[in-house]
Amino acid sequence: AELIHKLEQTIENIPDFPIPGIQFKDICPIFLQPKLYEEVIADLAEFSRGKIDVVCGIESRGYLFGIAIAVALDVPFVLIRKAGKLPPPFISEKYDLEYGSAEIEMKTGHLKEGQRVLIHDDLLATGGTTEAAAKLVAKQGAIPTQFSFLIDLKDLNGEERLSKFGAEVYSILNY
Ligand code: 5GP
Repeated sequence: AELIHKLEQTIENIPDFPIPGIQFKDICPIFLQPKLYEEVIADLAEFSRGKIDVVCGIESRGYLFGIAIAVALDVPFVLIRKAGKLPPPFISEKYDLEYGSAEIEMKTGHLKEGQRVLIHDDLLATGGTTEAAAKLVAKQGAIPTQFSFLIDLKDLNGEERLSKFGAEVYSILNY
């Protein structure tokens, strides 16, 4: 409850960014408070402790927390990147965003079959990004086992979209 309150005070709401009608949540002020950042990582790591073998983070804000979660749990971290940045071999997945559409990619050979994977991103909106990430994981024989976020924009029903994976979902904050 204490952590939720501190994050609510810290995360900034920017109206009409990047397009009119979108309420953008800016998480960057968290990094101005290293102790708060540590608390966020401890909270997210606790959700996943003992339950996963690998963390996959989604570019780019998913890296800022995902790699620290992986280090805290002493498990590998694998990057899910926006299209056009990875050298081959990789696999791709197209998806729709809250605003626009996009494509993400992941190197093959970094996940092992049967590994339990946490997919982490800063924010869950429509769930399109995370759904595409989970498909990339599943295509390689690994198991999307948990999804975690700092923020879930509940009204956009991302959790429902992710329900088909049968994975545990956790977010520190709900808006
Ligand atoms: P979704 O695919 O669930 O609709 O959108 C989630 C993705 O868009 C995440 O990668 C997230 O970083 C980004 N995103 C969408 N809206 C916001 C926002 O208001 N704040 C932040 N920080 N990221 C957002």
